[in-house]
Formats: sequence, structure tokens, C-alpha cells
Amino acid sequence: VYGAPIISSGGKERLKGIVLVFHDITELKRLEQMRKDFVANVSHELKTPVTSVKGFTETLLDGAAEDEVLRNRFLKIIWDESERLQSLIQDLLDLSKIEQSQFQLNWHRVDLSMLTDDVIVMLTSKAEEKEITLTKRKEGSGIIEGDPLRIKQIMINLISNAITYSPKGGKITITISEENEKTFFTVNDTGIGIKKEEIPRVFERFYRVDRARSRNSGGTGLGLAIVKHLVEAHHGDITVESEVGKGTKFTIGFNKEQLK
Ligand code: ADP
Repeated sequence: VYGAPIISSGGKERLKGIVLVFHDITELKRLEQMRKDFVANVSHELKTPVTSVKGFTETLLDGAAEDEVLRNRFLKIIWDESERLQSLIQDLLDLSKIEQSQFQLNWHRVDLSMLTDDVIVMLTSKAEEKEITLTKRKEGSGIIEGDPLRIKQIMINLISNAITYSPKGGKITITISEENEKTFFTVNDTGIGIKKEEIPRVFERFYRVDRARSRNSGGTGLGLAIVKHLVEAHHGDITVESEVGKGTKFTIGFNKEQLK
């Protein structure tokens, strides 16, 4: 808070009043804290796989490589950790590109139903490993204006999360529907669900309800942050409904007439 006295001009100086200027620094502080947390998180997330790769390589060089079983086990770990690093770096690059204001979408006519079919084919083997069924329902044309590659990325992230956070034998239903001027894309799973108090946080960068589960499944904690940015770039909105032990439903609402 800055205060400055107002002095009347001419003649005798007399105090007329005080101007107070308020700067709300709470928001600035919050952003600064978020930036610090982000850097700390990135450092931690990058350090963990690198430490693991170094450690196992060192053990191999120290003689473990002579034992075939041990060698294969350690090489598999090194491979998995390298893959993790790669996807983390890819997600970070995506996120930083998306967060920059010059980020541009390539607007086209997009058939959500056809894109869903492509993504289902892509994720079928991941689903089959857990005997999960992927079903598509189409109620309406499902035609919107958008960037097909980015919309595909949204779909991949949501559907692969649904697979990751569902137990064996789960059911995932992807629905494309329309109501008034909106087109909806919904991913509904019969998975583990998300606690009410965790729901608003799942879009935060690096936020994971269960760190270990997410890590084991190759999660980076950035997927939903990317999804939210991409949905907003399309002038759409995303909502979550969930019940622990029952399942989760992510709904994206696209405006039929997109404002490019
Ligand atoms: P991650 O790479 O960890 O999956 P995301 O940003 O995609 O990161 O998701 C953030 C967190 O939200 C996940 O770690 C998980 O705890 C929770 N989550 C996301 N999707 C689902 C889902 N379909 N069912 C239950 N939990 C979910």
C-alpha cells in the first residue's frame, strides 16, 4: 500500500486528502510459488530416472553384466526409465509450447467419431492387456471445428488414463453427443474413481492422486494439464464427475460454432 498526501496548490499548503494505491500481491505471490514448485517438480521428476539409469549402468559395469539374468533385468529397467524420461521431456515440451501465447491451432472440420475410432485402434492393445472393453456411442453428427492433431491428443490422454486407472475387466464408454449449440465428448470408465477433494487438483501440473500407481504406468502427471490447455484453446470446457470405487467421467463441451 502506497500513500501520498495531496497538497492544495497556491497559497498556503494545506493537506486535502490522501491517495491510497493498493497492489494486490497475493496473486503475484501465488504465481511465483507455482513457478518455484514447477521448477522443483521438474527437477525431481528428471532426477529420479537419471539416478536410476546411472545406478544400474554402474552396477552392470562393476560386473553384474556377466550374469545373464541380472544383465537382462537391469537393462530392462534402464530401458523403461529412459522411456519415462523421453515421455516426460515430450510432455514438458508440449506443455511449454501450449502455454506460450503464440501457440496456434490448425483449424479444420473435425469428425470426432472418426478420430475416436483411430484412437480406439491405437489403444486397443493397451486395453486388451487388462481385458478392458472400449465402446463408442454416437448420438449426433460429432462434427466440430478444431485442430485434429490436438483433439486426438486430448482423446489419447483421456482414454489412456481411463485404461490406466481401471482394474482388469473394466468398461470404458466414449460418447459423442449434441445438445443445443454444443457437442460433447465424454469418456466414462468403471475405474478406481477420484475423491471429491482431489477432483479440482487433477488438472494441476504434476498432480497425481497416487504417485506410485501413476509412475508405474508411465504417467508423468502432465497429461490432464495438457488436456485442459488444449480444450481451452478450442474455447471448450472440461468437467469431471467421479465416485471412488465406481468410476470417472470426463466431459468436454465444444461449441459448435468455434470462435477461431
Ligand atoms: P498421470 O500421468 O499421472 O496419469 P494426468 O495429468 O493424466 O497424470 O492425471 C493426473 C491424476 O489424475 C492421475 O495421476 C490420477 O491420479 C488422476 N486420474 C486421471 N484420470 C483418471 C481416471 N480416469 N480415473 C481415476 N483417476 C484419474
